[in-house]
Amino acid sequence: MKTLDQVRATLQPYPVEVEFPDISRWQAGTHGIDYVHTFDSGQPGPHVMIMALTHGNEVSGAITVDALLQAGIKPRQGRLTLAFGNVEAYERFDPQDIDATRYVEEDMNRVWQVERLEGAEESIELNRARALRPVIDSVDLLLDIHSMHEEAPPVMMSGARRKGLEFAAALGVPEVVIVDGGHPNGKRMRDYQGFGDATPHKNALLIETGQHFSRRSERVARDIAARFLMVTGAVEETDVATFLTPLQPTQQRFLQVTNAVVASTMDFSFSDDFRGLELIERAGTVIATDGDRAIVTPYDNCVLVQPSLRHLGPGVTVVRLAKVVNAQDVPE
Ligand SMILES: [Zn+2]
Repeated sequence: MKTLDQVRATLQPYPVEVEFPDISRWQAGTHGIDYVHTFDSGQPGPHVMIMALTHGNEVSGAITVDALLQAGIKPRQGRLTLAFGNVEAYERFDPQDIDATRYVEEDMNRVWQVERLEGAEESIELNRARALRPVIDSVDLLLDIHSMHEEAPPVMMSGARRKGLEFAAALGVPEVVIVDGGHPNGKRMRDYQGFGDATPHKNALLIETGQHFSRRSERVARDIAARFLMVTGAVEETDVATFLTPLQPTQQRFLQVTNAVVASTMDFSFSDDFRGLELIERAGTVIATDGDRAIVTPYDNCVLVQPSLRHLGPGVTVVRLAKVVNAQDVPE
């Protein structure tokens, strides 16, 4: 039986191309919650939020929120909250063990069920989610900035409903939008309550900017954050001009997740060096083996979403499978 360290040792390490900003200056929040800064325009309008560091090693969001705070970006209408999530994990980042600080005790993007938030369990991440919850409860429009284990084009995770897809379409980038209901092992912030149900004025997007430590991911994060703030009406283009990357017009593609491939052994391996968004033409193509079990594509033109073995373990989702859809195929 292989250990996770042995699995990771076979994977290509990525260089850390970006600097981890010192965010300690943002510790004192504006309303008594550490690392949470809310600005009120005094004008009517939605409460808009950009969250960084839901995962502690996903630095492109931290760079972006740090830069937005440094730039003194304020909302022209409604309220704007800029926040850092799992700061405890971020502060423990070790360049010699770059995958280790996604979280400290548990994944902070799997705890967003009311029963867990109001339950008796304790963990660093649950307690942080509880501290953030009063703010999250008042947010109308959320952008949660993430990045990926593997180098791959950026993807937007728009949730299971059409309102999320339409929000991603309003941003116009990135090219690939994933329509998905999340993970079986716990709820993401972007699916929490009004973001994930039919509440019309609440919506959320989760951007995966690219590989955690690449310069390209930093550029993507800054650009998406600026476009999100413009589309929500929080700012005008001139306010965030230095964050924008000139757009190459592209047709967006919408992919709906149909299956999660969950490893049952530590002897899991992919049949190729998949990095994400590979399109497998024929149904029945073997994409991985898990012990004695062959994993095959269930339909033609199956797209692989975020294949990765960096957190391999029995019960861990190692890749998701998706099909191409149109907006009208997605439930309201
Ligand atoms: Zn993440």
